[in-house]
Order: sequence, then structure tokens, then C-alpha cells
Amino acid sequence: MLGAIEAGGTKFVLAVGPSPDAITARHTIPTRDPATTLAEAAAWLGSHGPLTGLGIGSFGPVELDHASPEWGFITTTPKPGWAGTDVARHLARSLGGVPVGFDTDVNAAALAEHIARGGAEGGSLAYITIGTGIGGGLVLDGRPVHGMAHPEVGHIYPRRHPNDRDFAGTCPHHGDCLEGLASGPAVMARWGASLSELGADHAAHAIIADYVAQACHVLFASVAVEEVVIGGGVAQTPGLVERIAARARELDAGYLPGGARHRIIAPRLGTESGITGAMLLAQGAAAGA
Ligand code: ZN
Repeated sequence: MLGAIEAGGTKFVLAVGPSPDAITARHTIPTRDPATTLAEAAAWLGSHGPLTGLGIGSFGPVELDHASPEWGFITTTPKPGWAGTDVARHLARSLGGVPVGFDTDVNAAALAEHIARGGAEGGSLAYITIGTGIGGGLVLDGRPVHGMAHPEVGHIYPRRHPNDRDFAGTCPHHGDCLEGLASGPAVMARWGASLSELGADHAAHAIIADYVAQACHVLFASVAVEEVVIGGGVAQTPGLVERIAARARELDAGYLPGGARHRIIAPRLGTESGITGAMLLAQGAAAGA
């Protein structure tokens, strides 16, 4: 039996099952203080029999370097109480020494989307989530990318849209980075409503699509992914992913090698990418990968 956790800032989604495509039970708990939340997660997972592997896709920033004594920790998050929290090793101990696979929530989702489209060895894609914040995970040549820590695609600086010059942005670190301009709170701060609530002809749609399209273009041009998968609550706004794809084609102007093979799409797994990715991490851990 495999166990999985999609660890988010507001909720933890827990799941168990014999394989990543066969989740047999799931449970959601609110994210409270670390001790309470991790104890609740361990109790539920432990009640489903001994696990052979546990996968965790976590909000971050997180430590992914296996050589670090803080591997598996949430590191510098502004979320109260969670900075410096040992998640992976703590849960491994609580669950009888189960092998743990640990990655960012968005890398887990990217891995799941990669597998969902066939998992080709040389395949590459990015997964961006647009919600309360903006995060991005990368699978290049079939493997999740960590780099020095992990990518933070949400914090690149897009060129400002001509009809959106004055908004200072909501990112506490950068102001008008991508997250500060295009996350759910940034939409709310400018227009007092979500994109879905604003009519489809509202100027906000084109502005947000432009910023996200710029990020997609950066990913196509810098790391040569074939596909950008766009998930998260804001991305469920009807028509938004199509607008982003159309704007990215305009921005590229026919230059990039590979041309029409580049795709910007909604998640193949809908809202299941994150927890499925955590199951895949569990499978990898159980296999000793
Ligand atoms: Zn930022």
C-alpha cells in the first residue's frame, strides 16, 4: 500500500492505494500548526495498514538536497509556525520508517502530467499553478528538475501590460513579479472580483493572459519544454488557458524551434495532478528510486 500527501498551505490532501492510478481512500485535513497537522496525517495514513512507500508533494520553499540534514524540511515559508519544519523524516519516523519521496507540490504535479501523457523518457513539460500564489514545476528529459533548490517560476518579472502600468503588485518580496501581478489575490486587489466573476469581455482577462503567456514563453525559450500545463483555481476560469496559448503564439511570432509542437494546455488529470504526483513519488520511494 502506498501513501501520499499533497501538502498545501490551507489543506493537506491524503490518499492511499496500491498504485498511483488506483487511489482507494482519501481524506482532507486543514493545515493547522505543524505538530497537529503532521500527527493527524500520520494517524490517518497509518490506519490504512503498513505503507511500503510515502510520497509528499509540498508547498515550499523546501529542501530537496539529500545530502542536507534538512532534506525534507519546509524551509523559509512565511506561513506562521511552518518555517524550518521537518516534514519528510518526521512522517517517516511516525510511520515505522517508511521510505519517503519528497518534492515540491508543483514538481509532483508536473511528474504526474508527464506520466499521464505517456512518460516518454526524453519528454519535458512545465506545470504552472495559478491560485493564491503562482508556482511552477519542471520535468526535463523525463526527470523533475531541482537545480540549486527548486524553480520559482512564479517570481519572474514580466514586461508590464500597457493597460496595467500603475498597479504595484502584491508579492511581498518583489511587488510586480508574475505572482504579484497575476495570482488570485492580485486580480482581486485590482478589480475587486475574481476573473470568473468579471465578464469574459473584461480587460482583466487579456492582461492576466498576457503575463502568464510571457512566463510560458520564458519556459519554452529557456529550458525548451514542449508543453506548459496550467492548473490551479485561477486557471479554471473559462477560456483563460486558450487565451494564454493564443497570446504566447503572438509573443513568439513564429520564432521558436519546434513551432506548433509547443502546447499550453489544462491539466490532463484535472485537479488530480498533485495527489497523483505524490503517489508517483511514493511508488518511486517504495522501489528505492
Ligand atoms: Zn515575487
